[in-house]
Amino acid sequence: MGIPLFDTATHLAPLRDVIRDRISAVIERGTFILGPEVEAFERELAAYLGVRHVVGVANGTDAITIALRAMGVRPGDDVVVPSFTFYASAEAIVTAGARPVFCDVDPQTRNVTPDTVQAAITPRTRAIVAVDLFGLPAPIPELSELGLPVLEDAAQAAGASLNGRRAGSLGEMATFSFYPSKNLGCFGDGGAIATDDDALAELVRALRFHGSRDKSDFQYVGYNSRLDELQAAVLRVLLPELDRWCDGRRAAARGYAAAGLGDHVTLPGAPDGADPAWHLYVVGHPRAEELIAGLVDRGIQARGYYRTPVHRQNAMAPYAPSRSLPATDELARTNVALPMTPTLSAAAAREVVAATVAALAA
Ligand SMILES: *Cc1c(COP(=O)(O)O)cnc(C)c1O
Repeated sequence: MGIPLFDTATHLAPLRDVIRDRISAVIERGTFILGPEVEAFERELAAYLGVRHVVGVANGTDAITIALRAMGVRPGDDVVVPSFTFYASAEAIVTAGARPVFCDVDPQTRNVTPDTVQAAITPRTRAIVAVDLFGLPAPIPELSELGLPVLEDAAQAAGASLNGRRAGSLGEMATFSFYPSKNLGCFGDGGAIATDDDALAELVRALRFHGSRDKSDFQYVGYNSRLDELQAAVLRVLLPELDRWCDGRRAAARGYAAAGLGDHVTLPGAPDGADPAWHLYVVGHPRAEELIAGLVDRGIQARGYYRTPVHRQNAMAPYAPSRSLPATDELARTNVALPMTPTLSAAAAREVVAATVAALAA
């Protein structure tokens, strides 16, 4: 009934039998932590991204914390992060012991820019967390020119690219989440860290295992944060499908545009050279909540994201920014996520547009 915001079942249906076989094989083998599936998935994702190293961890939040630790972030350091993102992007900075310094975003791309980041840099800034929001790669090559290491939070951007380079290969390090609703989602929690730097990769491998390289000498106070074998086995079946699924998402976005959606709401913009993975298809309208209620009444799932941006969350009160973040506050108020799946048809896109027109006219 109706059109859901996410659909994690339809595109998985043809893969179910293979996935069951791979899960059975893991059970037969009896190795559940850091075995051949994780090793192979790390190799395969690294090849896909075009980076030297991928290290599997327990989730996308740990991935950020561990990557920041490896980059040398420590107590007393500041880390710049956008406020218009999922809470974990900033939470992970606090877990790493540092202070998040919130920056604004560009109203069109909804991503950080060199200017918005520059405005938040302090003498203590040790790193920048740049989020590829909603699946659109952040302008990381330009951010790198600010002279600080950039961690790319690519949790929403598996399958996206920027000038021919994959999201997840753009910064000093990058992190992924394989939470089930993400573009590359496993059957539980999972995450990964990607980097070209041999030393950082080695450090991350130790940090995910209690700070030990050999499981007997403990060099650092680390984490127990591993991607497990069952999830890696599932992800190895899904990764080869990722590009096709993202093509489906891009076709759905074109379907929305072709059906005239842009005449009624602000469409998400993608700068030249960016090929978004459309994790979420988020439009803008001044009467966002009214539009959402009207869509839901008509059987179309829609919702606003990050209505309370991270810098206004209670837990972040100690890090409240001194300057205002006007684009963030405006986007938080006006954004509307519409249904987006790899299999959303042109007919479904037309139905969503028709419901949008009706909802706004009512
Ligand atoms: C989902 C997400 C995370 C956290 O990933 P988990 O696997 O849920 O811990 C971090 N950053 C962004 C931008 C996300 O969307």
